[in-house]
Amino acid sequence: MRYSKQRRLILDTVLKNKVHPSADYIYNLLKDENPELSLGTVYRNLNFLAQNNMLKKINIPNGSDRFDGTLSKHQHVICTECGKVVDICVPELAKICDTILDKTGFEVNCDSLAFEGLCAECREKLQLQIKIHA
Ligand SMILES: [Zn+2]
Ligand SMILES: [Zn+2]
Repeated sequence: MRYSKQRRLILDTVLKNKVHPSADYIYNLLKDENPELSLGTVYRNLNFLAQNNMLKKINIPNGSDRFDGTLSKHQHVICTECGKVVDICVPELAKICDTILDKTGFEVNCDSLAFEGLCAECREKLQLQIKIHA
């Protein structure tokens, strides 16, 4: 497969899968139908697409990088338990970033902010575990 065709395929797969996929996720989706694809190729192409602003790269603390096809301004909520990444738009953040700029002189990139926490499913699971062990 030509490089450009591989890149197109990888980009389309990220755009179709709104879960903020990792390189592994994309590779596992594509490898059966594209046996010549390697995880390294997928990773390189994802980074190339992110560098060229066709995708957004999301750095996950202690986890693999994730990739986002939604380029409009938004923030992320990341589940520390299952790694789920969800889009959220917090308009109030612009005000908070202004306050930060005022007080510290730092210009914060509000768009790259991510909140960490527990998703509803994980919270429920953990509560169940506590009940069983109680
Ligand atoms: Zn979770
Ligand atoms: Zn997103």
